[in-house]
Amino acid sequence: MDLSALLARARVLRSRARTAHDAARALRATTLNQRHLIAEAVRRQPARRLARSARGGSENRLDGLPETPDRRCPVCRSDKVKALGYVQAVDGVLKSEHVCEVCERRFVLLRNSPTFLRADAADSES
Ligand SMILES: [Zn+2]
Repeated sequence: MDLSALLARARVLRSRARTAHDAARALRATTLNQRHLIAEAVRRQPARRLARSARGGSENRLDGLPETPDRRCPVCRSDKVKALGYVQAVDGVLKSEHVCEVCERRFVLLRNSPTFLRADAADSES
């Protein structure tokens, strides 16, 4: 490859790099703007975040576990159970992850949640 071909190739590569750089800069500006808009929307309506977590959020580690309103193991009926510290509020019900100390099965203890967590509470109070 002679010198003029090398210089031409360098110009093409520099032009492509400049185009990619400009596209990346525009994408970054768009992303920052969207993040700002989303943060503003969340700030204006904090109840949305609460409602989202009340629906269970994006992941649900309680899926598939047996549920019971009684504080005893739904498998072996033992009352030697302990809370694992993971709680969700779903449709006005607190779901608390528990484990049986006898058969070591995990399950969900159901409890009515405080009024302020219920989505329909604001409607019924007005
Ligand atoms: Zn058990």
